[in-house]
Amino acid sequence: MYHLLLVRYGEISLKGRNRKMFEDLLIRNINAALEGLSIQSISKTFGRLYIETENWQEAAARLGKVFGIVSVSPVLRTELDLEAIEEAAVRVMEDTKAKTFKVETRRPNKNFPMSSPELSQMLGGHVLRSVPGLRVDVHTPDVTLNVEIRREGAYLYSQIVPGLGGLPAGVSGKGLLLLSGGIDSPVAGFLSLKRGVAVEGLHFHSYPFTTERSKEKAVELGRILGQYTGTRKFPLWICHFTEIQKAIQGVPFPSLRITLMRRFMMRIGTELAKEKNAYALITGDSLGQVASQTMESIFTINAVTNMPIYRPLIGMDKSEIVEIARRIGTYETSILPYDDCCTVFVPKNPATRPTVEQALEAESHLDVAGLVEEAVARTEYLEV
Ligand code: ATP
Ligand code: MG
Repeated sequence: MYHLLLVRYGEISLKGRNRKMFEDLLIRNINAALEGLSIQSISKTFGRLYIETENWQEAAARLGKVFGIVSVSPVLRTELDLEAIEEAAVRVMEDTKAKTFKVETRRPNKNFPMSSPELSQMLGGHVLRSVPGLRVDVHTPDVTLNVEIRREGAYLYSQIVPGLGGLPAGVSGKGLLLLSGGIDSPVAGFLSLKRGVAVEGLHFHSYPFTTERSKEKAVELGRILGQYTGTRKFPLWICHFTEIQKAIQGVPFPSLRITLMRRFMMRIGTELAKEKNAYALITGDSLGQVASQTMESIFTINAVTNMPIYRPLIGMDKSEIVEIARRIGTYETSILPYDDCCTVFVPKNPATRPTVEQALEAESHLDVAGLVEEAVARTEYLEV
């Protein structure tokens, strides 16, 4: 019965040029999300969008993955005719399972002959007479029947479907996500996308020590994240890490292997980020979760780069991360049991308090710059 979707978006604090950029990107992302659906029009009025479509359910489901949308409502539009508005009010209320309701009217079109309170009262009375079992409750109603009297017609709705919030993906500049096949890094990518970061992925792969399937897993996670990027694509860099892993194996401090591996990842990430004009690296670290995520480890790992490193999960418990992973659809893929480049090479007793001095001493056995340069040169690009 609905042919129109009302889309509300944030953030109120945005002004001027930022607001324009926000809206333009949001509309681009909405268009990409609705691709293939029959859409008659998308129009912008008073800081909201109206989308005309024959298939509002599917459209609303897709918009549920578009950052920047606060909520959507299916809307019934009628002519500016009292009887038509009454009939529409009944249809909208019959569509809800509510026991109690109230009517709220707004009247931007001052030519309409009734005031907002008059119209609310009249429609409330009409609905009460027409829908059995319904009561008015002006304080805590189950649903509010919203009526807007505009120049183009009367707009009625009662459902409000919450959206993801956040900022339109891409509004904030580029960030490079270190994407493993685990649970955490895809969630870190999702939360960065939520604040408008144009996220690209970087996956380290150690073939033949890890299988082709472990790479496929990262590709699949990239594909899932691609549902939230606003472009329906996810740029993914695959870095061949085998030579570096082998070199690290030869260094006489096994407990430092993870630290050294992470320092290489950060160096390679930094070079790629500079090349691609990204402003930050992003990881799925959560403080204290494993040896490489203690404050001392993070200090020693960060010491190789001046690039900001975002760690959106730093304060989260595993259970909170898992909950988000389930909600966004990455969890099932993340728990597939393929080896990761780190699990294969993980030492028995990884250092929990590695110092920069220890790391530098261990790295003095390696041609760090040469290994990094070679790895960067061998990085492949995939668009998934
Ligand atoms: P995740 O679930 O994201 O793999 P984790 O708890 O397994 O995280 P670690 O293995 O210590 O944690 O990795 C910490 C972070 O380092 C990851 O969140 C990710 O950002 C990065 N990372 C680890 N392994 C890789 C990899 N093979 N490719 C790219 N990034 C990686
Ligand atoms: Mg991991």
